[in-house]
Amino acid sequence: MNLKYRKTIIAGNWKMNKTLSETRAYAEALKPQLGKHKWCEVVLCVPAVNIPGAVKLFKDTRLAIGGENCHYEASGAFTGEVTVEMLKEVGAKYVIIGHSERRQYYNETDLTVNKKVHAALEAGLRPIVCVGESLEQRELDVTEELITYQVKIALAGLTESQVRRVVIAYEPIWAIGTGKTATAEQAGAVCSHIRGVIRKLYGARVARAVTIQYGGSMNAKNAAELLAQPDIDGGLIGGASLKPDDFMAIINAANQEA
Ligand code: PEP
Repeated sequence: MNLKYRKTIIAGNWKMNKTLSETRAYAEALKPQLGKHKWCEVVLCVPAVNIPGAVKLFKDTRLAIGGENCHYEASGAFTGEVTVEMLKEVGAKYVIIGHSERRQYYNETDLTVNKKVHAALEAGLRPIVCVGESLEQRELDVTEELITYQVKIALAGLTESQVRRVVIAYEPIWAIGTGKTATAEQAGAVCSHIRGVIRKLYGARVARAVTIQYGGSMNAKNAAELLAQPDIDGGLIGGASLKPDDFMAIINAANQEA
């Protein structure tokens, strides 16, 4: 973390979990613990249908609600999809783009990620752009090349001020939902590499302003060590964000004055 230059952001990714009544029970359990979390921003990305309800439930807090995906077109014949304007109008502030599950199951590519990033920023949403390598790619020692490629394409065509609003989540695929976490050193090294890629593209001032999260089995036990890495500015958290106490423990680990 480096609070002098950028925000620490803890974001939950609920994936396809929790009904509205379960969301209500979660909010009732989390809100009394939430406090002001002055040193970090907190986001919950929830299924699209529950965004309006979640926005209402957390309206008297500083926790922001986000979507888990969006389409890049403004409207049209795309059954089952939602636009960035739809997300924005119901109160979302963030949207996850290019999660590895979307890439794996729904043919999301680096090029569609780039289009979605443009659409989100134009609508005033902050995109949380996921990048990360598979185990095979790590073993073949192509992690840095692959991440460079993913980041360059995701950010293609953005202005400096747009890039400052992008959050990058480094999520090694082999660590997502597996209970296997990258070591703090492994995660920190890739996050530093990502900042280096942004530096080459947009210069040092922009690079140091971008929030780069780690995601992949982050939990109450390992969060502090991961967040102690200078280039890890928060987390994108799946499983552990589903339990209010676990999510709160991660928020507390991040909510430290640097
Ligand atoms: C994720 O889905 O973005 C994620 C990091 O999941 P988990 O924390 O469960 O590994």
